[in-house]
Amino acid sequence: MNYISIAIDGPGGAGKSTVAKRLASELGYHYVDTGAIYRTVGYHMSLMGIGPKDKDGIERCIDDVNIQIEWQDGVQHMFLNGQDVTGEIRTPEMSMMASGVSAQKCVRDYLLQMQRDLARTQNVIMDGRDIGTVVLPNATVKIYLTASAEVRAERRFLELQGKGEKVKFEDVLKELIARDQQDMNRAIAPLKQADDAFVVDASYKNVDEVVAEIKDIIGRKVAAL
Ligand code: C5P
Repeated sequence: MNYISIAIDGPGGAGKSTVAKRLASELGYHYVDTGAIYRTVGYHMSLMGIGPKDKDGIERCIDDVNIQIEWQDGVQHMFLNGQDVTGEIRTPEMSMMASGVSAQKCVRDYLLQMQRDLARTQNVIMDGRDIGTVVLPNATVKIYLTASAEVRAERRFLELQGKGEKVKFEDVLKELIARDQQDMNRAIAPLKQADDAFVVDASYKNVDEVVAEIKDIIGRKVAAL
């Protein structure tokens, strides 16, 4: 049996995970947040005192990274060597750490099969940076979800403020742009639109409108199968 796979790629803060979660729950598909997997690798390297650009260190340690993913009440929990690190990986430092380690070939090679396996046995909505281009090149539907850097930074800023973190908007914007640059310009699996992706610009749309637009695209594609 062929399962349906929906790939949602795009820069950080475009609302991929919010939209993907909603779509998954409305369509009854399984949601996979692949950024969390890279964050978990980044977290391991930081625990080991290894920097995001330390190619040799990362290569030396990657085999010690044992990742397990569990879904509890619809929430994707990440386990690193048996320890639940779901909360620890959600900091601005881990965003940059994930972006750094994800540029290393050994990391991408290590995680590729894990991601493909998740789409082999169930209908999935998977979000990330290279899902439509590398991980699931034959995905049923590919979406490239984007928004202006200012709008994305504003959302991130409010989210961090909501968590009680003291952050400056300018710093959030600067970091977001730096991460976009890093993700778009790396040599392996850079963030880019797949040729056959539908582009959805969420700059001036609310979550309901984005979900409705993507649901419509999926509906038309799936009906044509
Ligand atoms: O989506 P999220 O912001 O959690 O991703 C963190 C980082 O992980 C991204 O900035 C990107 O460098 C990396 N990533 C990736 N490929 C994916 C998902 C995330 O390189 N499929």
